[in-house]
Amino acid sequence: MPSVRSLALVIRSVDVFETSSVLTLFTRELGKVSALAKGARRLRSPFQSGLDLLSVCDIVMLHKASEALDLLTEAMLVERFDSLRRDLSALYAGYYISELLGELTHNHVPHPRLFDAAVVTLRHLNDAQLRSRRVLRFELACLRELGLMPALEHCVGCGQLVEVDDTPVAFGLAIGGVLCKSCRAGQGQVSLLSRSSLLTLQILASPGQAWRTHELDPDSWQLIRQSIGLLISYHLGRRPRMLDFLAATPADS
Ligand SMILES: [Zn+2]
Repeated sequence: MPSVRSLALVIRSVDVFETSSVLTLFTRELGKVSALAKGARRLRSPFQSGLDLLSVCDIVMLHKASEALDLLTEAMLVERFDSLRRDLSALYAGYYISELLGELTHNHVPHPRLFDAAVVTLRHLNDAQLRSRRVLRFELACLRELGLMPALEHCVGCGQLVEVDDTPVAFGLAIGGVLCKSCRAGQGQVSLLSRSSLLTLQILASPGQAWRTHELDPDSWQLIRQSIGLLISYHLGRRPRMLDFLAATPADS
């Protein structure tokens, strides 16, 4: 049974037996794994209290080839995000991130870039000013990494640049992106974006630093939040549990 080492984010923890836990870990090198941590809840835990939800640990585990749970043998805390303990909105955003990682990714498929994006997002959730956009950029990073990134400029039906006027642009959830007027006909599962919300979404999806300073007007933000929420729900097959908690937090415009 090979022993493997990785950085891991704890995204779920379920108590089992007297003192043990089954953890869902989003690891940098191995993707999502479920591992048994024997004695994790003992007073003198062998894991040095490194297994709190949404903390980053350096772990060693025995990787079982079969369907059986992997076995955690070592865990050392690397980073804990203190703002999650102080700020309920930050905590909800953190739970949403862990829900996306847990539900959208498959076991044992590594996504190191997504791991890094999650850690950076969690690290900066204390910044209420940019929190909403950071969470949105994390959602887009998830979609991009999983090959589900919606087209935002060229029509996903015909490939032509979508001309934006004062009428809302159709954003196809099932087909995956904006639709020109001719391709829009007959498309079900469509959300609508205004010109301003589409432009803002394009900026929030772009590399560089413009996403930090671009002014968000509340109406555009609401349309973006709604469309990306619907898109994530479509891919998940249900509405994420934490999405409503997220929407209840103020949009930091
Ligand atoms: Zn088209």
